[in-house]
Amino acid sequence: MPNENGVLLNDVNLLKSLFFDLMMNETDTKSIHHLYRELINIIKQATCANIVRLYLYDKWKDCYFLEEATTPIDKQSQSYSLSNEYLNKLKKKNTVNSIVLPTDCLTGMKNIETSYIILLKKRGTPQEEFGFIYLDFSPGGSYFKRNDFLEKIGVEAAKLVDVWMRYFAAINEESRYKQLYRVTAKFHSSMDMDEVLAEVIQTLQEVYPTFDYVLLLSHDTTTEQGLPIRDLQYGFDSANSAAAQAYLTGTIQFEDSLTDRKSVLYAPMKGRQGIYGVLQVTAPNTLVFPKKEVGFIELLANTAGSALENAQLYQQSRNLISDLQLINKTTHRLNMNLRLTDTINFMTEQIRTLFDAEEIGFLFFRENDQYKVLTGSSDYFFTDDAKKLLNYINDRVKQEKDAIFIGDLSVDENIMEKVFRSLMVVPMIQSDLLVGAVYVLNKEAYHFSFDKFKLLQSLIHHTTLAFTNSMLREKLEKMVITDHLTKLYNRKYLDEKIQQAMNTDAQGVFLLLDIDNFKSINDTYGHKVGDDVIVQVANIIKRNIRSQDIAARWGGEELAVYLPRADLQTGIMVAERLVRKVEMDTNPKTTISCGAAVWNQDNKASANKLFNRADEALYKAKQTGKNKVIIDQIEI
Ligand code: GH3
Ligand code: MG
Ligand code: MG
Repeated sequence: MPNENGVLLNDVNLLKSLFFDLMMNETDTKSIHHLYRELINIIKQATCANIVRLYLYDKWKDCYFLEEATTPIDKQSQSYSLSNEYLNKLKKKNTVNSIVLPTDCLTGMKNIETSYIILLKKRGTPQEEFGFIYLDFSPGGSYFKRNDFLEKIGVEAAKLVDVWMRYFAAINEESRYKQLYRVTAKFHSSMDMDEVLAEVIQTLQEVYPTFDYVLLLSHDTTTEQGLPIRDLQYGFDSANSAAAQAYLTGTIQFEDSLTDRKSVLYAPMKGRQGIYGVLQVTAPNTLVFPKKEVGFIELLANTAGSALENAQLYQQSRNLISDLQLINKTTHRLNMNLRLTDTINFMTEQIRTLFDAEEIGFLFFRENDQYKVLTGSSDYFFTDDAKKLLNYINDRVKQEKDAIFIGDLSVDENIMEKVFRSLMVVPMIQSDLLVGAVYVLNKEAYHFSFDKFKLLQSLIHHTTLAFTNSMLREKLEKMVITDHLTKLYNRKYLDEKIQQAMNTDAQGVFLLLDIDNFKSINDTYGHKVGDDVIVQVANIIKRNIRSQDIAARWGGEELAVYLPRADLQTGIMVAERLVRKVEMDTNPKTTISCGAAVWNQDNKASANKLFNRADEALYKAKQTGKNKVIIDQIEI
């Protein structure tokens, strides 16, 4: 019989050789759990223990977890996982590597003399523990005296487990980098952002299947269904401030919640030019994220960032091209000498579709803070409701001489507007002169993106010249046909219109009006008052005829009205109304005389003939007492 020392020596040698075989023959071919099982079986035989268990430290959870046991153990069992803290308490009571367990340790153990744990330590200093082996000699087992033998087992087993762990970690690492390679390969081969994002998420799910992933994106991104994407709220006051912090600083942030027993990591998704969002990784039942894993997630987040950047740059260049095309097309159209109303109609339609706008208004600024809503603008701008908003915003435009972009009108307490919430206003500036502004509205808050705002600015900037030209041309045209004093049409224009009407219509009435005793008005009150009386009469005429009727200054204090398609009865009615109104509404009190003439298919002659007949009738009115209407009763 070998003495105790001899047996011990032999046992250790035997154990070493068994471990060595295990190392040489099995490592490449078996799973790590199979190897652990073999290891504890050898230890069981060598020590004649009843039960042997291997616990290893889990860096994610800061706990020792059961890896393998010679007798199976339920996952729910208390002794399935043991906290690091708990082990530290035990260690304080014992200075040696193998520890005799106190009674309360490892559920179910009653006899302190029959159970042990042997710490597994890494080589080198400090000797960091990474696990332990638990041995149970009950029932009937005797007190195992050879603590030093257990220590030796610990040293040898630790070497072996350490080598295996490193070996399998390397294999694992290799496969991770293969996955990373796969993601980057996808990234370089595909312009499709969705594909790359899907690949990133899929890789993460393969590597850490129990984690949750969310991509928090900073821009409106249209992505296919199924990707876990949310908008990033990046105000500092936002609920998710760690995510905002990651986005704003570009550094990884952590949020550990002891109460929820989860750890959240926020990795900024960086491209070359900026940060495009944040990858949020939630690890349930985890207290801290280990460094190496963080590095891996960071690489994936940056790949996603580059994919987003690429997609955005690609989209931006496409947008730029289509913006240029649009501006080109629009200025081209405007330069085609369209009527101003046609121009505005065209622009309104363009803006409506391009910007998904609900109301579009073109305002022309006049002196004294007055403005005119140009025809072709949408209905809202002609309402009373619009006035307050337009006055307020116009003031701002005039002060700032810059475009205005408001995401939510309801936030500004100076603005009483209730219906519309999104607003873009771009001033029309020509040769440093503010000529007007274009308004674009939508009911929904934050409806317009900043990119759209910039596009509107450049569209208006490029079209203002064509626009003002078109306005100037029409102003000039109007000047040519308008009498300066009365703002009625001039005789030439009325002449032309009557000629045209005689070609297209069946009938019409011409009224010639002359102010009675005008010479004496001039003599009594002076020329200036005389002028004013002419303007008063002109305004009375404007107010008392239909929009299709044409009033003109015939010359001096003679005015004329043509009533297209009217019959004689209507003509008399209008003429008498005018005579009556002038007598009532002028100051100094003035009267007019009127000669009326009708043309129709029976007496159709030249325009000149019509004028002469009206003139004759007017003469008769003057001869027979003035302040009256005389109709030219032609002989047929
Ligand atoms: P009657 O009732 O017969 O029409 O008398 P009257 O005084 O109006 O007649 P008459 O045609 O002799 O005089 C017209 C005057 O109107 C002559 C001219 O000095 C004056 N007149 C013509 N054009 C203007 C104008 O633009 N401004 C002013 N203040 N006076 C004008
Ligand atoms: Mg006269
Ligand atoms: Mg007169």
